[in-house]
Amino acid sequence: MIHYKKKEEIELMRESALIVSKTLGLMAEHIKPGVTPLELDKLAEEFIRDQGAKPGFLGLYDYPNTIITSVNEQVVHGLPTNRPLEEGDIVGLDCGALKNGYYGDHAYTFAVGEINEDIKKLLKRTKESLYLGIEKCEAGKRIGDIGFAIQSFTESFGYGVVRELVGHGLGKKMHESPEVPNYGKRGCGPKIKEGLVIAIEPMINMGTRRVIQLSDGWTIVTADRKPSAHFEHDVAVVNGKPEILSSFKYVEEALEKTGGFIA
Ligand code: MG
Ligand code: MG
Repeated sequence: MIHYKKKEEIELMRESALIVSKTLGLMAEHIKPGVTPLELDKLAEEFIRDQGAKPGFLGLYDYPNTIITSVNEQVVHGLPTNRPLEEGDIVGLDCGALKNGYYGDHAYTFAVGEINEDIKKLLKRTKESLYLGIEKCEAGKRIGDIGFAIQSFTESFGYGVVRELVGHGLGKKMHESPEVPNYGKRGCGPKIKEGLVIAIEPMINMGTRRVIQLSDGWTIVTADRKPSAHFEHDVAVVNGKPEILSSFKYVEEALEKTGGFIA
């Protein structure tokens, strides 16, 4: 069952989403060669608690951390480790926050120092596909229109669109109905209506779309070990149109200061 949100609920969800946006902005200031994902995790947890919120992922399905850090060929669900990030790595950082009973869920893939041109293109195109999907999130369209927009754009570059993991409804639960695949057919799937709030999150692989889960029970990697990118926004349907509740503004301001790559 899809829980459509009232305007007041959407305002609370915006607050939760923006806490995550600011957390990602803080992460952007600290991502550089030598920093470890576990150090980032600690900073993120402190920051979220300082905002009067709870980390959205910590304890969810027994997940042990605040952030998810997926490095290079890791697609999503990468557990933070003590391995320092290295020049040329990319790290997908996914984070959740819970405040006033509502979740925010939001991700950005960062470059660590200088990365190669092909990987820059993968990041830019994956982020662009997110916005192409968001444009379709209007009353009267269908969930398949979102996936079709993401899939047709990214596959035109020969990239692989992950099938096993999808976006989702968001609200009092981190994962609500409907599922929001990053692939699909136009005009298919649940109808998009006023008050729908979903997390749209393309996971796009440089090579094969096939993925494998590692023996840690969490980390998903590409089958060919080529890099993968992930960007995620929380989107509400307000007055029939998509409204992005989260924001990459804080990430981009931080990257401008540090000279980091902006996807
Ligand atoms: Mg997420
Ligand atoms: Mg999500």
